[in-house]
Amino acid sequence: MKLAAHFLPWRKPALLEGENCVLKLPERLKGKNIDSVLLVTDKSIMSLGLPDALLDELRKQGINALVYDETVPNPTIDNIEAALAIYQENGCGGIIAFGGGSSMDCAKGVGARVARPRKSISRMKGLLKVMHKLPPVYAVPTTAGTGSEATVACVVVDSKTHEKYAIMDPALIPMEAALDPMLTIKLPPFITATTGMDALTHAVEAYIGRSNTRETRDMARKTVTLVFENLYSAYTDGADTKHRANMQLAAYYGGIAFTRAYVGNVHAIAHTLGGMYSVPHGLANAVILPHVLDDYGKSVYKPLAELADLVGLPGDTAGQKAKAFIQAVRDLNSSMGIPTTIDGINEDDIPVMAGRAFHEANPTYPVPRIFSREEMISVYHRLMGKSGSHGRAGKMARIDLSTGDIVNFTMPLDDLTKYVGGKGLAAKIIYDEFDGPIEALSDDNLIVITTSPLNGSTAPSSSRFNISTISPLTGLLVSSNCGGDFGLHLKRAGYDALVISGSSKNWVYIHVTETGISLGDASTMHGMNASEAQEMMGKGGKLAIGIAGENLVRYANVVSDERVAGRGGVGAVFGYKGLKGIVAEGQTRITMPDIDKFKKFNKKWIAALKKHVLTGTQLPKLGTAALVSMMQHRSMLATRNYSRGRYDEFEKISGETLREKHLVKNKGCVTCPIQCGRVVKHEDKNIKGPELETLGLLGSNLENDDLERIIRVNYLCDEYGMDTISFGGSVGFAMELNDKGLWDNGLRFGKCDTLEELTLQTAKREGIGADIAEGSKRMSEKYGGAEYAIHAKGMELAAYEPRAAQGMGLGYATANRGGCHLNGGYLAVLEGLGLQVNGRSTRGKASIAVFFQDLMEAATAGGSCLFTTYAVLPSALYKYPNNIFVRMVYAMLPRFGGLIAFLHSHPGLLGINVPAIVPHAYAYKLITGQKMNIGRFICAGERIYNLERLIAVRQGLIDGDTLPGRLTEELQDDDDSSSSVQLEPMLKKYYKIRGWDEHGVPTPERLRKLGL
Ligand code: SF4
Repeated sequence: MKLAAHFLPWRKPALLEGENCVLKLPERLKGKNIDSVLLVTDKSIMSLGLPDALLDELRKQGINALVYDETVPNPTIDNIEAALAIYQENGCGGIIAFGGGSSMDCAKGVGARVARPRKSISRMKGLLKVMHKLPPVYAVPTTAGTGSEATVACVVVDSKTHEKYAIMDPALIPMEAALDPMLTIKLPPFITATTGMDALTHAVEAYIGRSNTRETRDMARKTVTLVFENLYSAYTDGADTKHRANMQLAAYYGGIAFTRAYVGNVHAIAHTLGGMYSVPHGLANAVILPHVLDDYGKSVYKPLAELADLVGLPGDTAGQKAKAFIQAVRDLNSSMGIPTTIDGINEDDIPVMAGRAFHEANPTYPVPRIFSREEMISVYHRLMGKSGSHGRAGKMARIDLSTGDIVNFTMPLDDLTKYVGGKGLAAKIIYDEFDGPIEALSDDNLIVITTSPLNGSTAPSSSRFNISTISPLTGLLVSSNCGGDFGLHLKRAGYDALVISGSSKNWVYIHVTETGISLGDASTMHGMNASEAQEMMGKGGKLAIGIAGENLVRYANVVSDERVAGRGGVGAVFGYKGLKGIVAEGQTRITMPDIDKFKKFNKKWIAALKKHVLTGTQLPKLGTAALVSMMQHRSMLATRNYSRGRYDEFEKISGETLREKHLVKNKGCVTCPIQCGRVVKHEDKNIKGPELETLGLLGSNLENDDLERIIRVNYLCDEYGMDTISFGGSVGFAMELNDKGLWDNGLRFGKCDTLEELTLQTAKREGIGADIAEGSKRMSEKYGGAEYAIHAKGMELAAYEPRAAQGMGLGYATANRGGCHLNGGYLAVLEGLGLQVNGRSTRGKASIAVFFQDLMEAATAGGSCLFTTYAVLPSALYKYPNNIFVRMVYAMLPRFGGLIAFLHSHPGLLGINVPAIVPHAYAYKLITGQKMNIGRFICAGERIYNLERLIAVRQGLIDGDTLPGRLTEELQDDDDSSSSVQLEPMLKKYYKIRGWDEHGVPTPERLRKLGL
């Protein structure tokens, strides 16, 4: 194409410019001895009277002027043939194309048929099929967009097949063009907007394409500058002839640029929408342009960065500038009321349209990157307001609780792939939304609820959804994961993400269905417990806060059925925003490229989980409570505010006792073969039983051996909507403050008979509960005792006493959301709670922590329950701890730290799929159809981990990977000098492996490597 461009007989039309210049045309016709002319236009132009003055002048000068005004938007072959008949019947000698792109195309088509009377329009489809001189064509544009007055193209629709195609031949370039701004001042604002964006699309596609020349680049740059400087003003003040004239020039230059350098995928897709549904071409281009630019990705960073510089957009790198340019296009669209989606697209038509667009673009257009059919389909889906990918529900919505505005939006496919889903997607949304730190309890803060590709796929344990926000407990990003069935319902309602901003003056709840989202009055739910509020919301998947969230308890949670998004105070952010809950219902099913292949694999995955000793036996039998006894034996059971790792009365609160005395049945999340949840009998009622963390934090940590009380308080915490870990940790700290005489609050270790009362006081922020509701860190700031306020970054630790598990200690310290075992990589499982790797040794722990943090990050983002990652290592390693080979593995694993670190920084070496080991990556591949292997999966996890860290740094986290002195300075066992967490040396290695600086901040090199 580039080669052809040098040899084609290009010419530019002669130009008439200025107000009323159109009236000079009759003279020009006379100069050519034309005494009969056909004016091709449409009904709306005629009704506005735009050609009247010209027709009068023609007649005055004795020229017979015939009018064809039946041209329709996206002109048809029938239009051309009807106009041709008038031309021939009246012996016309020239054609005036008067109007927008459609009239121009129709007039050029007539000219082509005059030049080639024996050749049908359909036979002239494509490049250089006219090749004969046309009669003189005079172009009078009444819009400023198509640039058709300067182009070789004539686009027509075959009304029988609904196919829209182009005839391209330099013979079609008009002889003369009159750019008269007076003809555009009556153009309605919306048409001004869409036609102007059409001009911009021509220029951008020409500029980023591979066939441009110095001249086309100059022309495109002129167009882009003129559009950004004049279009919005022309839209808002249509009578201003200066902006109108500049927009006419913009369209003209754009026409010259694209007629030589060609267009691209935007046009290929726009033509199909015009052909199938008569979507006006300018509107289609305007809506499609940002989607396609997103999808070109890096291939257009350089040219778009140049255009960004041209119009003064900010950015340090080419990528940042390119994104700023795409955003500026979106902003311009939005400022002129151009939607982000196109109505009326029928899913059944998409394969045909994608096929046509694919064939139009390849090989005709010199696009910067060839789109596959799948990518084309993805664009159509996003034009429908869907996300556009297998494995995704489709839509995302922004809900502003301050204004009640609800709008759908989409994200580039590239972002969906890079950030997987769930917490990754949410981090990306939150990262992009702000430039600086934001307050957790403020209108600025967002609640981002996301689903993941595996949700709704029937993959095992894949019902988990995510809630991310800035935490009122830590001030950092928190992503809180939850099971149950809400995620599944949200996805079936058609949504991958809800982004909630602002705050409501009155209590509201959100109702999500396939037909839309609405806000409901929740004033009668105010003051209700979480289960009652859910009951009130009717059918579907539900979530709600209890009174703790209403009262802004800093670790209030969100409850869904009986499951909770527990950590970091997401419930308090709901409470601040006046949001009591959400209900979602629908029937949307995700698509997959090859469902049979997935089903076959899925069957094997479920069978493997059922066979594994942890996921098939231990968790179903005892739930997570099974770990109480193991932790006791490994000195890992947090006891008496983490001053010890063993609790003499542990048997009274163990998983075995829970099973023996209280268990009614197992219960779990939907699609889960593990069913780790417990249903227990309590005072004639069947209620949810406590998990390990609750048994530890409300049991051993308070020296409370009353299992019935723990069951009751666990139940109350769920009803009030309060995290049992942070509550238990805060109460333990308050007991020690009382013990040490720093705060006279009456709380004592081992005396827990008022715990139920304290739970209510805390949820209501009454009495000493007001301080306990603030969490350990803030209590230590008020009363002292920072060295034994057991938290990391402000979040209370889980029940694993880390002085017996160095890797777990490192994980707590480095977890982005604070003292979290899961976000920290959960090395306790390797250090005694499954495998028997030496917990007191720091050897290899930094690299193992990084590896598991990233693996778990990706698995969570994909939608899997983390318990499925337990089965990554073979059962034999857990089952036969005394076997010589197994002991060798335990001994060798930390020695492989260097190798693990090497593989981590060279993920390409893991560019394989081994479904038996990391089924999550393979499932993602089968469900989404995107490239995925173990290396890419871990790399995606690392990318998300780094993005979360960037948000934390933006919120002010520097040198923040610390643990309280009790854990790093006090020995757990006086006879063992390795029985405190040796954080500093591990942290140094950890930062090196992560590619972070000594303050825990990702370096630019690492971010570049991760594409951040
Ligand atoms: S293992 Fe437990 S938490 Fe995970 S999905 Fe299954 S029931 Fe839910």
